[in-house]
Amino acid sequence: MYLKELSKPIRATFLEKLQQRLLENHPKTLEIQQDLIRILAGYKGEKAVSYYLDFLPDKDFFIFHSLRLPSKNHFFQIDFLLLTSRFALILECKNFFGTLYFDESFKQLIRTANDKEEGFQDPLSQAKWHQQQLTNWLRSNGFNLPVDYYVVISNPSTIIKTSPQNKQALNKVVHGHSLLERIDEVNHTCKNPLYDEKTTRKISRLLLKRTTQESFDLLKKYGIKEEELLTGVRCPACGNIRMIHHYGTWKCPKCQLKCKDAHLESLKDYSFLVKPTITNQEFRKFFHIHSPDVVNYLLKSMNLPHSGSTKGRVYYLNEEFRNFRA
Ligand SMILES: [Zn+2]
Repeated sequence: MYLKELSKPIRATFLEKLQQRLLENHPKTLEIQQDLIRILAGYKGEKAVSYYLDFLPDKDFFIFHSLRLPSKNHFFQIDFLLLTSRFALILECKNFFGTLYFDESFKQLIRTANDKEEGFQDPLSQAKWHQQQLTNWLRSNGFNLPVDYYVVISNPSTIIKTSPQNKQALNKVVHGHSLLERIDEVNHTCKNPLYDEKTTRKISRLLLKRTTQESFDLLKKYGIKEEELLTGVRCPACGNIRMIHHYGTWKCPKCQLKCKDAHLESLKDYSFLVKPTITNQEFRKFFHIHSPDVVNYLLKSMNLPHSGSTKGRVYYLNEEFRNFRA
């Protein structure tokens, strides 16, 4: 049973919003597009893996997609976590194509595809690190549950190779289609429940409470200045970024759409790309509205958390606002 559903990576949403607000021939367009393709390919791999997870018995397995949990001053991110009353299982998904060689000596992954050899961070070391982090996280919250892991290769035509001595790769790297069999092996090793259902649910709730969304400073990452973004309210129908606010309604001069709350989605763009707070003045500048009273009305009607006096009031575009679907 999914307790945290499969959802598109937040990083992809950030990049899509950035793409929509960059001039057509911006020098960073290609780099952003390539990054987005890579992230969406990873998501496609996770979707392929989730197909197999759907066959797990609902009652026994609590499934979480994309958890990001705190560890000291950092965070660790898990693609899938399967939680039972007997064990926790981390699934690290990789959507590589070509031939993969897991090199034990140097702890590296070598991919050969299209006559080209490339090196990647070893997913086994990564998964093992997450295993340690999750074990510590559980312990620090008073739970002692064995944590195991698999590296799942989601593309069925990818060829996996390693040396016969590399026991870790032989035991821990699996193709998506053999994942259920391998989960069964863990099931047989960890037969006895360590917690009752109530406590397992308690751990689940804690995981959901502590997981946080990643935030990025994309403009900084790509070296783009705020002034280079296309400002204005984006039309939900045709994508034109210059809707006009007229007597309480947004109108699109391009496709003639009329819409009362088009600013909501565009304000999300602002929160993702510029910053997670906004003042009346900043709103007027970014969305091209002259009247402070109109903006005051729009900001107040969204019931956003805020601080400060009426004039310099700061509104917070928090996670709750970003997840809200208009
Ligand atoms: Zn339009």
